[in-house]
Amino acid sequence: MEKAHSRDLLPVTTACSYGTRSRSSSWRNLAFYVLLIAVGWALSQPASLELSSLHRVARTAASDLDLLVSDYLPLSAAQKHRVPKCPAQPAALAPAIDWRPDLNDTWLSESAARLGAAVQIPTISYDGMGEPGEDTRFQVFATFHEHLASTYPLIHERSELRKINTWGLLYKVAGTDASLKPSLLAAHQDVVPVPDETLDQWEHPPFSGYYDEQKGLVWGRGSSDDKGMLVAVMEAAEYLLAEGWAPKRTLYILSGFDEEVGGGRGAMEIGRVLLEELGEDSIEFILDEGGLGIGQEHGVDVAMPAVGEKGYLDVKMDVRAPGGHSSMPPDHTAIGIMSKLVEALEAKPHEAKLTPQSPVLTHLICVADAIDAGHAASRPTRKQQEGFQLTKKMRKYLRNPRRWPSVAMTIDATGTRVERFIIKTSQAVDVIGGGAKANALPEYVSALVNQRIIEGTEEIMQRMERVLRPVAKRFGLKVDAFGKGSSLQDGAQQTGVGASGSLTLSVVESSEPTPASPTNTSAFATLAGTIKHVFPGENGRERLVTPVIMTGNTDSRHLLKLTRNIWKFNPNTYSSKSAKHTVNENMGIRSHAETARFIHALLRNFD
Ligand SMILES: [Zn+2]
Repeated sequence: MEKAHSRDLLPVTTACSYGTRSRSSSWRNLAFYVLLIAVGWALSQPASLELSSLHRVARTAASDLDLLVSDYLPLSAAQKHRVPKCPAQPAALAPAIDWRPDLNDTWLSESAARLGAAVQIPTISYDGMGEPGEDTRFQVFATFHEHLASTYPLIHERSELRKINTWGLLYKVAGTDASLKPSLLAAHQDVVPVPDETLDQWEHPPFSGYYDEQKGLVWGRGSSDDKGMLVAVMEAAEYLLAEGWAPKRTLYILSGFDEEVGGGRGAMEIGRVLLEELGEDSIEFILDEGGLGIGQEHGVDVAMPAVGEKGYLDVKMDVRAPGGHSSMPPDHTAIGIMSKLVEALEAKPHEAKLTPQSPVLTHLICVADAIDAGHAASRPTRKQQEGFQLTKKMRKYLRNPRRWPSVAMTIDATGTRVERFIIKTSQAVDVIGGGAKANALPEYVSALVNQRIIEGTEEIMQRMERVLRPVAKRFGLKVDAFGKGSSLQDGAQQTGVGASGSLTLSVVESSEPTPASPTNTSAFATLAGTIKHVFPGENGRERLVTPVIMTGNTDSRHLLKLTRNIWKFNPNTYSSKSAKHTVNENMGIRSHAETARFIHALLRNFD
């Protein structure tokens, strides 16, 4: 766990035990004491205390008082209206035919072999790949397509398959009722590379697809991200067709080939084709990878599909400074200045936020409601539940809009990384380069800052500029922030960098956060009912289906116009260490079977 930013915490006001005393007299007493404390504190300060400090003290006291009032007075209608409600929790929805591959040992080992075979084909996405029809590194996708065709003959016989931009796959199983909007399942074919230096850390080689029957694990790159999902989709569709399923609703299966490098040639192109053919809002729902899976949160059984994803912003910082012999350097070289810029950014991490638009607030309210209604398993102890503790006070604060900043700061200070970064923009300086020689002053230094954003890109760019400009000014650099012209700053003499030094900020890649898919639709209810059927809670408890967001990005962000209902959900146990993108990636075969069962049930329930 990272160090808590305790300085960010609001002054914590203690709860008072007013019992049955009349509210208004309690209020007057409380107001009196708070003001008394504030005045006492102000008087205890040195005599030189400035007027502005007094002003600040008064303001802080007033806002603390305001918060206390809001803790004990009923919320106004407008405030109540802002508090999101947990989505309606429908009853478990059993499909007409309930397939149980998870109970079939033969199926488990056969499907493990089919997943293993898919993993053995190294469909790797590299940065800087050439055109799909030209770069020979794409050829391996042909082998992968052959594997799919020979492994899933019914799908290939009964569907129309189009290959878009050479390697993108779009299967269409035509439905019998053209008035129903089609369903769309998405899962990508490509995987991230395996660095040579990590090969010896793999328990089984990354492209072996080795099945450890004892442990029930299929090993290898892509077993979890995202060939597990793709194979589960194919297994479910193949089984449905074998059952004689003739869908009323058309089914599309979309498989991109460059999700790991942005999806611009795969999913984006396929999405364009579908949009042209079908038009906007033409699909009933899209199910893609992601979410936080199936698990227990604060003692409550939950399933956490993601209904939105954070945006993305890569910003390049370039510092240019005059070169020269390093025997007579300025006080700070371009590398020194860059380090100050990086330091300034890291000193100001983004703020955690809970807003009514944030699915995470809805998720937390669902869990809080369940705890307060006595639906949690025995309360987990501090040791069992790492990270943020959903205490009585926090549960109360969640229902009070004025306390949301306080909850957000507590999560930021005490939460796990997942808990923190689903409510705040991340910031990581991931690449740096500069300097050429031991005896030459560096003339050019650049750094790349990666941010996964919950605010809009414009807001983040302005914020970066606000943080970095004062540093640039200190070193006399001209600033060109995002192409908005340049201005000469003071202070050039101080460091000797001179007027020719500059800081340039430019966007390398960006995308806005996606809008959150609604959770009050009948489509979401069908999803939730299916999840509750396939993944019932433990010991007869209810499994709550609660929305979250993705910290990473998926192919489905290229499909936004096709439907409002986009769910990112790998229904795996989210505590399991599937090691996506790292060494020893694996897939539990039972979890894989449950995914196939879930997709089968979902398609039947939507038909
Ligand atoms: Zn993926």
